[in-house]
Parts: sequence; C-alpha cells; structure tokens
Amino acid sequence: MNRCSLGNRYHRETRFTRDWHGVPRNEISWSPKVDEDVCIGCGTCVTSCGRSVYKFDFTRKKAVVTERMNCKVGCMTCSTSCPTKAISFPSRRVILDLKDRPEVRHAIEDELLARREEVSSEPTPTC
Ligand code: SF4
Ligand code: SF4
Repeated sequence: MNRCSLGNRYHRETRFTRDWHGVPRNEISWSPKVDEDVCIGCGTCVTSCGRSVYKFDFTRKKAVVTERMNCKVGCMTCSTSCPTKAISFPSRRVILDLKDRPEVRHAIEDELLARREEVSSEPTPTC
C-alpha cells in the first residue's frame, strides 16, 4: 500500500504503470469507463481485476474507476465479464496504432528473443 503526500492510502503500483514496450504508460489512453446507468453494482469488476483499477461505492452500489493507469494495456477482461456490459474501452485502434510504431515492434521482438526459452512452444532439445 502506498501513501500520497497527504498521507492518504492509494493503490497505484509502479509495476502496473511502468512503460509499455518503451512507451510511457501515461501517454496511452487505455482504461475502462463505467456507464453508471447500466451498472447494477454486482462488484465483479472490482473483485476480479488484479490491478486495483476499481473501487466500490457502497452507498450508490456502483463500480468506480480510480486508478486507470493501473489498467493493463489491451486488457478487456472486466468488460467481458460484466453481466450488463456497463464497461467500455477505447477503440482497439489505440493498440493497433501503438503496435505500428517501429520502437514498439522492436521492443516486443527483443523481449520475445530474451524470453525464448520460457515462451517457446517448441520442445527444448535434449543432448
Ligand atoms: S461488473 Fe459491470 S455491473 Fe458489475 S459492478 Fe462492474 S460495471 Fe457494474
Ligand atoms: S481491463 Fe483488465 S487490468 Fe484493466 S481494469 Fe479490466 S480487468 Fe483490470
């Protein structure tokens, strides 16, 4: 748990807000938006997001996005599991445009190669 300069607790974790393949996270407009007229307050998004993006307003029984920069770029899990489809995201064009950037493509290729043993679907050769 972190505390801001006023001493209030907050959940922003640097591991969630670090650069996305070389692009500063705060330059990427990817985060959920809740339509409160459609939200029935089931709490599924609040309890299932592993990045503490949401809080729950117990008085109004609504999900509230409080740490939008914690949201994993490209993830839409909460939207998929919301029973009333109250959660929306920007167009996936945002992700496609990012992946068109040469520096992003190179960063992903570099990571794939660096983690080849871990992520390869091919069997590890035996001696
Ligand atoms: S999953 Fe959907 S309906 Fe349930 S609290 Fe979240 S936004 Fe509201
Ligand atoms: S898209 Fe994924 S990371 Fe972002 S708020 Fe929903 S569940 Fe959390």
